[in-house]
Amino acid sequence: MISVVVPIYNEQANIESLLVRLTAALGQLQRPYEIVLVDDGSRDNSLLMLKAAAHLDSHLTVVELTRNYGQHAAIFAGFSQVRGEIIITIDADLQNPPEEIPRLIACMEVGDYDLVGTVRKERKDSPLRKLPSKIVNAMARKITGVRMSDWGCMLRAYRRVVVDHMLRCREHGTFIPALATYFSKNFTEIEVEHFARQGGESKYGLFSLIRLQFDLVASFSELPMRILMYGGIFMSLMGISFGVFLAVLRLAYGVKWAAQGVFTMFAVLFVFVGLQFFAMGIIGEYIGRIYREVRKRPEYVIHRIIRKAE
Ligand code: UDP
Ligand code: MG
Repeated sequence: MISVVVPIYNEQANIESLLVRLTAALGQLQRPYEIVLVDDGSRDNSLLMLKAAAHLDSHLTVVELTRNYGQHAAIFAGFSQVRGEIIITIDADLQNPPEEIPRLIACMEVGDYDLVGTVRKERKDSPLRKLPSKIVNAMARKITGVRMSDWGCMLRAYRRVVVDHMLRCREHGTFIPALATYFSKNFTEIEVEHFARQGGESKYGLFSLIRLQFDLVASFSELPMRILMYGGIFMSLMGISFGVFLAVLRLAYGVKWAAQGVFTMFAVLFVFVGLQFFAMGIIGEYIGRIYREVRKRPEYVIHRIIRKAE
């Protein structure tokens, strides 16, 4: 059985063609399939449309979350409900064509892979949306040591085992592509077409992208803390040498020169104060995360599951 998981947040403009195209692509496979549609607290008509569709088609399962938890949490909620052996994730906005799903599955089965990712051939997004992704991709490669080229593309196929391992992770703020590669034995990537969003708009602004980036970095490494530490050591060494330098000049040129150096000191001070705030921010981020883990609040709450009565 094939399970497709789609996170949906205010996608009323896309739902109809999404379901038509998904159903067509999956029907072609001649295998049992299910489509798990996770409504991530949409405030438009998405949920109504999904419910109506689920009442007509027994392939559909609608997972209704109590509020908006974010794309990755929504996918996890979907994972918790899937029954298939092969699981596919795809965005609702049709930027990744559902027609690529059969290729994804074929690749997985022919090569006996447990994870097949996709690379967006020519990405159709605004430059402002692409730049942060470039940074995310470069950092993700560095941090995880996995040579995956496109981490943001959510069109992926997973074997059941990989999803089970992911579900067993009781951590928050996980970055699904990174977690999946972490648990996969052999993964590969294929190129897929990419299109501009069919309707509606991207749910990721600059701040949610920064948040996502931190999810990735913080859950996979202590890199920011280490940079901070080395940076701190370097800075204090610089500070000490600079102090020595000033003292020597003060002795050589007398009091007058030193008074004129006051502003230099201010400048130095500002740099340090700035760095300290930056450091506190990073430490605060980790403490916040620890606090969240300790609280053990569930990452998502399913309000209801809607399926067509058999
Ligand atoms: N999404 C979601 N919850 C959110 C934000 C997004 O379920 O809080 C879904 C959204 O409906 C879409 C997918 O995640 O199906 C990807 O979102 P989007 O297309 O806005 O991201 P982008 O393509 O800009 O990376
Ligand atoms: Mg999109």
